[in-house]
Parts: sequence; C-alpha cells; structure tokens
Amino acid sequence: MERKLKDGTVLVNKWPNKKKSAFSMTFDDGFQAHYTHVRSILNTYGFKGTFYINPKTINKRINNFEDTDERYAYWDQLAKMAREGHEIASHSFSHPHLNEMPIGDEKTRGTLLYELYESKRIIEEKIPNYNCINIAYPYGFHNSQLDEYISKYYEAARSAGNTPNSSSPSEEEFLDLNSKLILWRKTREKPEDDLKKLKRFIRWIKKESISTEKWAILVAHEVLPFSKLSTTDSFEPTSNEWLIGLCEWLKNASERDEIWVDTVANVTKYIKERDYFDYAIKTKSMNELKITIKTTFDPLIYNFPLTIEIIVPESWHSVELSYNGQKEIKKPYRRDNQTYITTNVIPHDRLLTLKQNK
Ligand SMILES: [Zn+2]
Repeated sequence: MERKLKDGTVLVNKWPNKKKSAFSMTFDDGFQAHYTHVRSILNTYGFKGTFYINPKTINKRINNFEDTDERYAYWDQLAKMAREGHEIASHSFSHPHLNEMPIGDEKTRGTLLYELYESKRIIEEKIPNYNCINIAYPYGFHNSQLDEYISKYYEAARSAGNTPNSSSPSEEEFLDLNSKLILWRKTREKPEDDLKKLKRFIRWIKKESISTEKWAILVAHEVLPFSKLSTTDSFEPTSNEWLIGLCEWLKNASERDEIWVDTVANVTKYIKERDYFDYAIKTKSMNELKITIKTTFDPLIYNFPLTIEIIVPESWHSVELSYNGQKEIKKPYRRDNQTYITTNVIPHDRLLTLKQNK
C-alpha cells in the first residue's frame, strides 16, 4: 500500500486518501454529446472525466453556420468543462494515422510535429491558464519512433489495450497507457441489454484492477440516451443509461475506498510525484520534526496533492502541522507499533514542520 523511503520517517501512499486502485473515464473525439450528456452525468456524481479532442473539428461561436458541425462541441463548452475540473486533452489536431505521417515540423500541416504541437497549442490558447499534458493516439496507433516525439510535448499518452495499467508505469508505459473499449452488439434492443454489459465490465474492474491495486482506463466515444442511439452512425456509441449505471457503482466503490476516480492527467501527476518523491530531515527532536519536501518535476504541472504518512514520537497525542503557510491540527494513530499522522501535500520545495500540540 505504501512505499518506505530512506530513514522511513515518511511513507507515501500508493493512491490518494487510502484508496485501493485508480480509474479514469475518457471520452474521445470532442462530441457535442460530451458537453450535453457526459458532463451533466459526471457532475451529478462529482467525477472528473478526460476528453480527448481534435481542435480541427471543435466549433467556434461565429455567425457563419455553414462551417459548424453540430455533432461536435464548442470551445466555450470545453473551457467551461476545464474550469469544472474535467481534463481537455489532445487527440491530435485532425485525427490522422500519426504513425504514417512524415515527421515534418511544428508549422507544416500534414506532418507529425504539427499534429502534436498545434493541438496542444490551440487547447492552451482556447482554455486560459491550462496545461495540456496528455494525448490519445487516433485509432490507438503508435510506435516507438513516435513515442520519442510524443514525450517532447506530453507527460502521458493513451492507446488501446484490454488490461489495466500498472500502479507504477515506466516512462515507456506512460506513452502507451492501456484503455478498455466496450464493444456493443449490433442489436441493442433495450437499455437492459447495455446493463448486462455493465455487469461484466464491473466484474472486470474488480478482478483485474481493484484486487491488484492498478489503474484502469475506460474509453468511450459518443454518449447518447438509449432511445437516440439509432440516430447516430458514430463508432461504438455508449448509452447514458450505461454511464449512469457505471457512475452509480463507482460512487459506492469510492465510498468503500476501493477506487479513486480521476482524470488521466491527475492520476499521471500523482504516480510520478509518488514514485519520485524525495525529502530530507532537517530537525528531529522529541518536540519538533522539520522535513524538507523536494520537487522533482516542473511545479507548474506537477501540483497534485500527494498522500503521505509521517512517523511521530509515541508521546505526541496531538500534532500541529505547518506547510506552505497553512496550519492544521492532526490526530496521530497507531499502526505496526508506530505512531503516524497523515496529510496531503503538493510536493514542492518547501518545509514541513510538525510540533507536539500541547
Ligand atoms: Zn478518435
């Protein structure tokens, strides 16, 4: 569950707040339905999703309706979703087969570097104060030569694959994150048919991800009310009913601490901060403990709170914790003959001070 470091004073938890596994919901291709249906479903349950978009097909609010394809979202809708905590990520600029493109350069359309750079640049221009750090390969296709370029622009990249991800992916694996696609039958007569598939998917999450403390990623495309599925010819559309059923189960599973539901970007940040976490003990006495938390990555990107546990003297019954100008009173607890407090810290170069609170 947790990793011991150096002298063992600080432990870092595998997943935040004692959760057992991680789960991300991702939605591809920038559909209008992601704003209309997915956003409202996720917001009802307080979950954040990752939306992989192609800037080329996203609509602008202009008075020229000829250029608008109503199947796709608008930039102001995506900006609003980002403000709510959802992740707007790159799915390349125009959804080509990236592995078949010439490398080219950032300014030349029809080249790999343009697709990687321009999609990120436009997202960051359209959404103020936002870092786009994650991409999904169109059609899931990529190769190791491509990965080298991907890592220049992105911290993580999602592809296909029917197994959950390790709780500590290597740098290579971060450029090849697996995601599970639900394949629907040709005939879906009633919402109950979809719910049978949901039961199977939940069994898969429990067996393949929760029991092994891994990170599972779902990939979905257009999401519509079951009654509207026959009106679209899009790839493997999901029903609102199925997604609501999933969120209902996820809500209970997260309340039981079995699963942490968050965006691909946030899970990526947590894992990298956790796996490269470092600290130094400044002072250690019976009355005071001073620890310097160290930054390993760009602090503008890696700003997700990390759950740590700190061993304090057994005689401390209440602890005053100061970090980053904030003070908190913590109640220590006993485990394995040690006394601990737990807290969430953004691991930037700062001093964490613990004092016995008398
Ligand atoms: Zn796609």
